[in-house]
Amino acid sequence: MGRPRPQVPSPSLISVLDLLRSTGGITRPELAQRTGLTRKVVVQRVEELIACGLAEDGGMARSSGGRAPREVRFRANGGHLLIAELAATSVTVGLADLSGAILDEAAADVDARSGPDATLERVEQLFDGMLTKRSADSPPVWGIGIGIPGPVATATGRPIGAVSAPGWADYPVRDRLAARYDVPVWVENEVNLMALGEVRAGLAKGRDDVLFVKLGSGIGGAIIAGGTLQRGSGGFAGEIGHTVVTTEVTEPCWCGQSGCLTQIAGARALGNQGEQAAASGRSPILAAIRAEGRRIGVREVLTAASAGDPTSHQLLSHAGELIGRTASVVVNVVNPSVIVVGGGLFSIDDPLMDAFRTTVRAGSLPSAAEDLSVTVSALGNAAGLIGAAYLVVDELLSPRLLAVWSEYGTPQGLADLIHQGG
Ligand SMILES: [Zn+2]
Repeated sequence: MGRPRPQVPSPSLISVLDLLRSTGGITRPELAQRTGLTRKVVVQRVEELIACGLAEDGGMARSSGGRAPREVRFRANGGHLLIAELAATSVTVGLADLSGAILDEAAADVDARSGPDATLERVEQLFDGMLTKRSADSPPVWGIGIGIPGPVATATGRPIGAVSAPGWADYPVRDRLAARYDVPVWVENEVNLMALGEVRAGLAKGRDDVLFVKLGSGIGGAIIAGGTLQRGSGGFAGEIGHTVVTTEVTEPCWCGQSGCLTQIAGARALGNQGEQAAASGRSPILAAIRAEGRRIGVREVLTAASAGDPTSHQLLSHAGELIGRTASVVVNVVNPSVIVVGGGLFSIDDPLMDAFRTTVRAGSLPSAAEDLSVTVSALGNAAGLIGAAYLVVDELLSPRLLAVWSEYGTPQGLADLIHQGG
């Protein structure tokens, strides 16, 4: 029994599919009008999409006189996706439909330093838990998207050498999950996924040139230029946190350098600086928090700053300035229209973001700064999961991969075919 020969979908099929995905429902005459295709071609393409499970007939559109036309819509529940985001000390997993909507979510504390086997085992347990909770008539799983903290060789779905936890370099993350769930799997740097989430469903929606900055325990970044995620030649594009900004720090960063931005202005560093300010008595407010037996982290520094503590305020603005100065170089190089700051720790009006906004503008070419908006993510930590869902759907619905699986009606069971040649 031979496999059907892959047929590259026609550009007209792709343009009908794209319109279905971007609208909640649309009539065939409207599709013809907006794509410039003839009604006959639109009717054929819609039939093809219905046949491979990507479209369905929807409700009746409002009539403009005469018989109301029936709408056709993207079949978002044709398949489910398993998505996961691995951070340094926790994992979050989700179940999504093909429109990128998150249907279920679960999280657990897992230290990435416990290695890929222990971490992915936990991810699989959480995935399995979500799958058993689904109703019996749920659609099949079509794919998996997973974000990991570090650069990835996207052609093989394996982490690249320089990751912050041991044991992950070159581990076959994609092959492990593909074998277990019998679906195609995409592995990506989690900061890149957050940027993708912002561009598809967040404050950068519809923007082609975006700088995303993740301020978590460390500092990460991702660049979208001309509508495309930039990975660079080795997967390190956007890693602004490992820009050396001082020669005064001699302690090595995990990346091998000393004086990295992340070592001075990351949340972990800010917590340590707050701890020192408490111990030395420079900050009476932080000293009082410490006297209650609480550890000083970045949240305590933020609280102290908003209670009027000048030392905490100064620590935060200094960090904001350093991050802003580094980001301004990126602004001059890639000329984004928006910078989205994510990570869930900072808000638009705190001293760090205040200093960041001022410095990034002051350090950029005035004409590049003029139309630049600087904003804090509204999606927060959901950005990574949403980005993972879009990554998988965009890949599955790309002309190259539709040609591989659409004849079968599902990408399930076709991981080997789909991942052939990357
Ligand atoms: Zn570094």
